[in-house]
Amino acid sequence: MVVVMHPQATEEQKEHVRDTIRALDCKPRDIMGDEITIICVIGNTRALTPEQFEIIPGVDQVQRIQRPFKLVSREVQPHKTCFKVGNVTIGGNEIPIISGPCSVESREQFHEAALAVKASGAQILRGGAFKPRTSPYSFQGMGEEGLKIIAEASKETGLPTISEVMEPAMVPMVSKYIDILQIGARNMQNYPLLKAVGQSHRPAMLKRGLSATIEEMLLAAEYILSGGNHNVILCERGIRTFETWTRNTLDISAVPVLQKFTHLPVFVDPSHGTGYADYVAPVAKAGIAVGADGLMIEMHPTPERALSDGEQSLTPEALYALIPELRLVAQAVNRVIV
Ligand code: PEP
Ligand code: MN
Repeated sequence: MVVVMHPQATEEQKEHVRDTIRALDCKPRDIMGDEITIICVIGNTRALTPEQFEIIPGVDQVQRIQRPFKLVSREVQPHKTCFKVGNVTIGGNEIPIISGPCSVESREQFHEAALAVKASGAQILRGGAFKPRTSPYSFQGMGEEGLKIIAEASKETGLPTISEVMEPAMVPMVSKYIDILQIGARNMQNYPLLKAVGQSHRPAMLKRGLSATIEEMLLAAEYILSGGNHNVILCERGIRTFETWTRNTLDISAVPVLQKFTHLPVFVDPSHGTGYADYVAPVAKAGIAVGADGLMIEMHPTPERALSDGEQSLTPEALYALIPELRLVAQAVNRVIV
């Protein structure tokens, strides 16, 4: 349920609504528009009636939200979520590109990768330090040492960073070094982790689970927003289907569907979405054409020597060649890649 306040409603009247919500064992959450404030009622609203709020002075209207997700929904917040990470705007007309290797492997490797990301024109630097690997015998990442290397590279290049966090207890530590917290596909429904990221002051990128529906993804994002963290990016990175010639099946139609139902920025990851470097460029272009707000593209200075995801990693040269082509696609759909 949402309580839409009159444009002229006073702060006292808004507080009256919030107090009423608290007295009904729910939590109020403000959504500030340019002119009006919407106060969202979080909790079990089934027993509540619109009349309980309609009689409060300053209330314009009360609406029940039909869908199971609330804070992430366009019904509650019609305008697009837009926020800045360093100098980069997420959710605006510009389309930022995140790039870097799957994993931080050494100071030298990451340094070289970071310089290539900078040279390519991509705006955000990625690198995994805690890796969720299918096999326990595969490279598990450099841990905190890897995060330090990312932070150093960020200082040197001026690029904001993103890296995966796998455990709730690690959120404060990863937040110390990294600008955007990535929740990987395998952890999309790790509810303690979602709650911990909800408490964090860092923006988050939530990747779609391997077999998650769009609604499950939106409800996972709802956990983060309901914890108070509204700066969330959703990332379509492919889902598991019967097809084996690609690593995952990138659900391109998820992008317009998400854009219709949520105000959160939607990114596309053509690297995990396809699994092969050959397919990354065409699918990246498709992502922009279909309305993505950003891309995540894996790039490695020497993909054949990568400790993870080498097959899907672009070389620096391939990334340099791709970004000007992406700019043209962006232009065709009235967006900008700087
Ligand atoms: C990654 O970004 O390297 C990664 C592990 O992605 P996903 O969680 O989408 O598999
Ligand atoms: Mn990867």
